[in-house]
Amino acid sequence: MGTTSSVWDYVRGFEHFSLCDWPGRTSCVFFLGGCNLRCPTCHNYKLAWHMNEVPVVPENDLRIFLRDRAKWLDGVTVTGGEPSCVPGLGELLYEIRKFDLPVKMDSNGMRPEVVRDILDAGLADVFAVDVKGPYSKYPELTGHAVSEVTARTRLEEIFAMARQHPDSFYFRLTKVPGITDADIEEARSYLPEGFELKLQDFVPPRRRTEDAQPDNETRRAVGNVVD
Ligand code: SF4
Repeated sequence: MGTTSSVWDYVRGFEHFSLCDWPGRTSCVFFLGGCNLRCPTCHNYKLAWHMNEVPVVPENDLRIFLRDRAKWLDGVTVTGGEPSCVPGLGELLYEIRKFDLPVKMDSNGMRPEVVRDILDAGLADVFAVDVKGPYSKYPELTGHAVSEVTARTRLEEIFAMARQHPDSFYFRLTKVPGITDADIEEARSYLPEGFELKLQDFVPPRRRTEDAQPDNETRRAVGNVVD
């Protein structure tokens, strides 16, 4: 993921104001670099796989923004990449929380132990977790970063947390090419009772076709694939 001296150095993108990242709320959005998956449909592959090619957003600018604008926002969205892969994520969330704003964290759900730690420490209020499709399609949907069994095991841990904390989770599925209505129904059937699967339209990434499937060398170079 590259050398960084501070967890703030993982902040490689920032949106001052968003109406859509946290449904029903206005939020600013922190984009953190790095991801443990290699989805061929990734909308943000540079941030996810080559974060050192994306400039750091200066910590001081972020702090000044939060200090001056917190009162105009309903919350902070922390997304990626995959936030759960960031070393020191808890410290960053702790610092953000000092500005007295609710925090929503996005996750692909493949590091449930990190989600559990953040939940237990009260460092995020809501987790938006992706269910990418049927477990059997996870290898193809994630660039073979994760097996069917691993996807099932990890997401079932997330679902168990959601049962215990129903107000702290919601689930979403992006209708990437190849996902059928039957796939959506199957993914929906995994969710704990009472949860809705929010569907998102796929926005094609702006990149060349030949980049769409990262080669093995790219995966090894980033070296962060789920085992
Ligand atoms: S989980 Fe997949 S789509 Fe999301 S940032 Fe990682 S590689 Fe991209």
